[in-house]
Amino acid sequence: MSQVLVVEDEAAIAELISLNLRHAGYEVTIAANAEQAQAAIDGVLPDLVLLDWMLPGQSGLALARRWRAEARTRELPIIMLTARAGEVDKISGLDAGADDYLTKPFSTNELMARIRAVLRRKAPEALDSAVEVGRLRLDPSTRRVTRGDIELKLGPTEFRLLHFLMAHPERVHSRAQLLDRVWGDHVFIEERTVDVHVKRLREALAPANCSTMIETVRGAGYRLTQQVAETQA
Ligand code: CA
Repeated sequence: MSQVLVVEDEAAIAELISLNLRHAGYEVTIAANAEQAQAAIDGVLPDLVLLDWMLPGQSGLALARRWRAEARTRELPIIMLTARAGEVDKISGLDAGADDYLTKPFSTNELMARIRAVLRRKAPEALDSAVEVGRLRLDPSTRRVTRGDIELKLGPTEFRLLHFLMAHPERVHSRAQLLDRVWGDHVFIEERTVDVHVKRLREALAPANCSTMIETVRGAGYRLTQQVAETQA
């Protein structure tokens, strides 16, 4: 389930947004100011932040800038919410690193569409939609991994790892990145753990002849590619 942090000082708006998000299947945390937002971020990184521009104390814009400047939060998907509709404001919001921008009042449908669009672009593994690479298909809603008629059995960690790799195919991910994105940040486990699970994942993919889709890139990390699978098919 995708987690959304709603940073909004107007309680009524925060509640309304949260209600709609929960209805759509998101898990929601609310922060009423920059300090609460930072505390939430320091705890667990959400999949996406809805960030109100005008907050008491530090502004949403300053928060976005700070998060963009730090390695841990650099990739955090951020949608800025604001009552301002000026073009200059829009540009400074995007300059500060927001991925998108919504002017109040907005419809629930528009909010949901923007959230899905930003997640599709930046964190497709946070969405429940099925992913396909080559003929390998992973469906998060049914937790099934298939290739044609063959259904593969994966452990929970291997499933999350494959989901992340399939959501970002052809890109090389370091062990540290995989730990952050698959195991969750703040976990203090050895990078070798990644190798163990990659090995298990390859074994799990073997019945469908897909083991070689997971490539080891020496000195860099791992990559999921569809080229190999297609030449084997
Ligand atoms: Ca506000």
